Amino acid sequence: MPGHTTTTLPTLFISDLHLDPSRLDVQQALLAFLSNQAQSCGALYILGDFFEVWLGDDDSNPFIDGVIQALAALPMPVYIMHGNRDFLLGEQFCAQTGATLLNDPTTIDLHGTPTLLMHGDSLCTEDVAYMQVRGQLRSSAFQADFLSKSLPERAAFANHARQQSQAHTQSTAMDIMDVTPSEVVRVMAEAGVLRLIHGHTHRPARHSLLVDGESAERIVLGDWDQLGWFIQADGTGLRLESFSI
Ligand code: MN
Repeated sequence: MPGHTTTTLPTLFISDLHLDPSRLDVQQALLAFLSNQAQSCGALYILGDFFEVWLGDDDSNPFIDGVIQALAALPMPVYIMHGNRDFLLGEQFCAQTGATLLNDPTTIDLHGTPTLLMHGDSLCTEDVAYMQVRGQLRSSAFQADFLSKSLPERAAFANHARQQSQAHTQSTAMDIMDVTPSEVVRVMAEAGVLRLIHGHTHRPARHSLLVDGESAERIVLGDWDQLGWFIQADGTGLRLESFSI
């Protein structure tokens, strides 16, 4: 398991940038973040939905290439986890960027504290309709079929899926769109950790909870929109930070 107990350099976490050519300001904020805060970190973790949509590693355009080159230029290890929008990020992307794909969930040793990392969508178990779609989209049969289509066909499918997702989000109660508290406790107990970091819900916060009677913490990264969010962790603790975009 990746860990950084031997270095004193801070570890950074980001998620839910939803990078898209329609938001060049967010891309610029990322490039600034990578050439400022990230330069002095020991490792960078991207916890899903880095891209708004990912049609496959064979998709190429100047926007994607710019992001890939920025990651490839980083001197420190970069880890990336699939989100519900970019779950087709694959081996070619990792080879081009030098990033390592992480399973969801993954436990790391974060400066001495076992820490569970997730995107967060799998914690929203009350949203039964979404959980069913998630299972279908993550199947190897669906993915092989999808990747066998032309890029225009994939783009059309993704646009349709996104419209359906937006309609579903607007008609689904707000508490269903958040994580299920009992599922949070279950996955943390199963992993044997007292700290969880995830994104997805776009509700940045630090939550205290009990796991098997012990004090635990769930830290939620925010999406990048009007603000950008990151977590910085080192041997002295952890901070959830934001900045204007
Ligand atoms: Mn997500």
